[in-house]
Amino acid sequence: MDNACRTDIEQGIANALGSTPVALQWTPIGGGDINAAYRLEGGAAAWFVKLNRVDRLAMFEAEAEGLQAMAAADGPRVPSPLTWGVAGERSYLVMEWIELQSRGDAAALGAQLAGLHGTTAERHGWHRDNTIGATDQLNPPDHDWVRFYRDQRLRFQLALARRNGLGDRLQSRGEALADRMAGFFEGYTPVPSLLHGDLWGGNVAFDGRGQPVLYDPAVYFGDRESDIAMSELFGRLPTAAYDAYNAAYPLDAGYPVRRDLYQLYHVLNHANLFGGPYAREAESLIDRLLAQV
Ligand code: ADP
Repeated sequence: MDNACRTDIEQGIANALGSTPVALQWTPIGGGDINAAYRLEGGAAAWFVKLNRVDRLAMFEAEAEGLQAMAAADGPRVPSPLTWGVAGERSYLVMEWIELQSRGDAAALGAQLAGLHGTTAERHGWHRDNTIGATDQLNPPDHDWVRFYRDQRLRFQLALARRNGLGDRLQSRGEALADRMAGFFEGYTPVPSLLHGDLWGGNVAFDGRGQPVLYDPAVYFGDRESDIAMSELFGRLPTAAYDAYNAAYPLDAGYPVRRDLYQLYHVLNHANLFGGPYAREAESLIDRLLAQV
């Protein structure tokens, strides 16, 4: 990264802090899927910065607003966003650095997730669109969850899959599922809960005191079961987290069937981002779901 870009970001941090800019120490961090990331250090303070192309600024704005919404809820700790914008050829987001570790208080994670989901809105969706991984995620507010999930989540990904040439069978089976969507919601009307939106193990950790930290969200209001389902897709959270979640805010008895429905969104997104094998996994999920309605 060039010096002009660094200087712009250091200026952005100073503006946000109301201080004079200083040269920070930049250390590259691995592990992210989408963005380049650095630890920035100056004096006693440290920040985490993500960088991408200029045209991805809206993605960082949405992430910053998502972190702010989560911070205002009674949920797990999230890094506090400091400033974001454009520096030279890059867009960036600077947030609080949190020294992350993989172990901590799993029961607190479950209880605090229940707290996050206890923050509700009038309608599903959000005040703005955002991204799930590198894919657009549209959030036009809707009081009808079945319609929202069917059109903004499943059909959106199916349309992308069509453009990506992922196969006719996926389209026809996916459409059949979309048509029968209401069958999964008999006797169950989800309230619009504040969701992390991309709750897999890689976006969950613990701070130095062992307290849970969530990051890299794709925030919107929706059925809380979809967060729990995502957390069970690529590995699982510790069992103590699910036990504490259920003690604080029990899941509906119909959750195990809808888990497949909610995981399908993320599997389709993976098919669109990474291709082949995920498309076949999506088809078998759809087959399993269609056998139940
Ligand atoms: P990406 O958007 O590219 O997937 P992430 O937000 O997942 O990037 O961050 C990449 C990695 O950096 C994470 O897996 C985590 O280990 C670490 N990380 C994320 N946020 C912070 C933070 N605020 N402080 C310290 N490390 C962080």
